[in-house]
Amino acid sequence: MNSDITIALAGNPNAGKTTLFNALTGARQHVGNYPGVTVEKKEGFYPLNGSRLRIVDLPGTYSLTAYSMEEVVARDFLVNERPALVIDIVDASNLERNLYLTVQFMELGVPLMIALNMMDMAESRGMMIDLKKLSSLLDVPVVPTVARIGKGKQELMETVRERVNREKADKLLHLSYGGDLDQAILEMEKEVRCAGFMTDKYPARWVALKYLESDEQIIRKGEEANPSLSKRLQSMVQQVSNHLLVTTGNSPEAVIADHRYGYIHSILKQGIMIRKHDQDRLYHSDKIDKVVTHRFFGPVVLFLVIFGLYHFTFTYSKIPVGWFEKFFSGLSRLASTYLPEGHFKSLVVSGVIDGVGGVLGFVPLIMMMFFGISILEDSGYLARMAFMLDRVFSFFGLHGSSVMAFIISGGIAGGCAVPGVMATRTLRSRRERLATLLTAPFMNCGAKLPVFALLIAAFFKENEAVIMVMITLVSWGGALLVAKFLRLTIIRGEPTPFVMELPPYRLPMLKGLIIHTWERTWQYMRKAGTVILGISVILWALMTFPGLPEDHRNQSISQEDSQTSVSAKIDGTDQTQSLKPNEAEALKYSIAGRIGTGMEKISHLAGFDWRVNIALLGGFAAKEIVVSTLGTAYSLGEADPENSPPLSEKLSGPGGWRPLTGLSLLIFTMFYTPCFATVICISREAGSWKWGAFSMAFNTVLAFILAVAVFQIGSAIGY
Ligand code: GDP
Ligand code: MG
Repeated sequence: MNSDITIALAGNPNAGKTTLFNALTGARQHVGNYPGVTVEKKEGFYPLNGSRLRIVDLPGTYSLTAYSMEEVVARDFLVNERPALVIDIVDASNLERNLYLTVQFMELGVPLMIALNMMDMAESRGMMIDLKKLSSLLDVPVVPTVARIGKGKQELMETVRERVNREKADKLLHLSYGGDLDQAILEMEKEVRCAGFMTDKYPARWVALKYLESDEQIIRKGEEANPSLSKRLQSMVQQVSNHLLVTTGNSPEAVIADHRYGYIHSILKQGIMIRKHDQDRLYHSDKIDKVVTHRFFGPVVLFLVIFGLYHFTFTYSKIPVGWFEKFFSGLSRLASTYLPEGHFKSLVVSGVIDGVGGVLGFVPLIMMMFFGISILEDSGYLARMAFMLDRVFSFFGLHGSSVMAFIISGGIAGGCAVPGVMATRTLRSRRERLATLLTAPFMNCGAKLPVFALLIAAFFKENEAVIMVMITLVSWGGALLVAKFLRLTIIRGEPTPFVMELPPYRLPMLKGLIIHTWERTWQYMRKAGTVILGISVILWALMTFPGLPEDHRNQSISQEDSQTSVSAKIDGTDQTQSLKPNEAEALKYSIAGRIGTGMEKISHLAGFDWRVNIALLGGFAAKEIVVSTLGTAYSLGEADPENSPPLSEKLSGPGGWRPLTGLSLLIFTMFYTPCFATVICISREAGSWKWGAFSMAFNTVLAFILAVAVFQIGSAIGY
């Protein structure tokens, strides 16, 4: 019963594939998974000429290069199952970006037609599209649809019927990729064709293109099919890459993408799209944008929005954060009262409750921050932010798409650099991508937030929102200056142009906001309960063992004098006064104490004592560790554990730090090495561990210079 004809629905995510699929198949559908992967596979049936048409809803993709699982799945389906027709769902309100995928279908030579969907959106934005012209220029049938209400369905299926009965094969689209690449493609294509290298599945020219685009999947298959030819092709690619890099500063991938967009531009420019905007019939998003992205008012609005967010977060989280603090100090008191004296009690009280509890105490603050950011994201405002910063970014040698990578990394607060670094994949120029990779970790990710919150609570209680705005400005400023520095020195090259698309404003849905907020908050809590807990226990052990040897206890007085003098010099106070004398000595004698004390020789320049040093070392594993380690360090051997104040009060109270130390630590935390996970990710994305190592070393040195400058200048002027 294999007489069913198969057709596939393909297109960008959110173009309306599934909506159209449902409209066509109704209840006659089946959902499963593609073998071996978690990508969903949907198929259904449509009655056609007495037989059945099998329709497959492919995963949404922006390209056909194997960057993601979705792309691999979509492509494999096209070449292995050879559907009789591919319906490319194109979002009419977003033509340029959507046609990028269309061009790749045409290069692969699949039998194609276009469903130009979202025609209602395009119309309400005042766009008129010349369908006949588009169809004739691309040489592909184009049918307008509004999938949401099933409009255009009949006409679409008419065309499908004609197309699947056609004998003639679609001809391949041959684009020119500029002199150098065209030459290389011709040579590679010849080799591929002569050897019949994978040509049973792919067109020869397409294989050459995929080698040039460094498509991992195709190269792997090629290596299996014919290792020596695959090697030869790769060395040809290497040659032309080097040549391009020297002459244009770009990778073949970037040049190929540029030419594909160039082709699309040239088509769109021929009067296909007419915007009939008159002043009084503006789409409402455009009206809002007149103010929100205005040259002068735009930045003002941006500033107010961010200040408002921080103000809201810090003000309204104060009360619940207080509850959490009370809860953990109560727990701590309970444990100190009822647990027997000894290492176990110390582990529970100082290692777990005072360590991890410090991180968990900020959950309400983190949650409110995430809620606010979800509003900005879901409403479409974040895209405006990227739009406004585009020009600023290109001045600093970054790309418009870098803004999104920055925001994902925690540009406003509370992101993560790992997905931020991954987001740089959309950048086409390798240099701009590297510069973005290396500077995105300067943003204030969710793990740095509790550190800031702790220091703000300890030293800058009066102006929380203002300080947070300043932290944000300093981190962006720092990131941009470093980017400029890198682009003027080790990664020089021309900027590439960029067209920013603005999605319409949408009223966020409460349910969506709550789900987003909860997902992120839960991630934070889970990390605290796993990674942070584990490392806290290790650091507790390092701060507890080996413990003081017997003979050491008696002669400790004279040595203590000489050792505390370093701390005293740093902070102008004797930090050990709230500790039992022997405990203070034991702390310093511990493994961590000795490492931290050893580092004081340099770190005292920035005002850091041994506890801060250990906390910062731990922070390489995850930045929250800075808070938990300080919590443990200030809890161990406390003179009066039953009346222990919150960590922020210990830091700012008598025997604590000078505010200047807090500021210096704040600056250092903003700029020093990305956490371990991010370094791994940078190395992988940049294609060499050297960039990961560079990022660790460069950032730490930079952070130290800044912290020393702040501390020394501050001290000199009497703070
Ligand atoms: P997919 O990711 O390509 O499967 O896209 P979906 O089918 O899930 O559609 C994404 C969103 O666009 C949904 O909210 C649809 O309701 C909406 N949508 C789909 N087609 C149209 C259309 O023609 N006009 C409008 N205004 N919305 C549409
Ligand atoms: Mg879908």
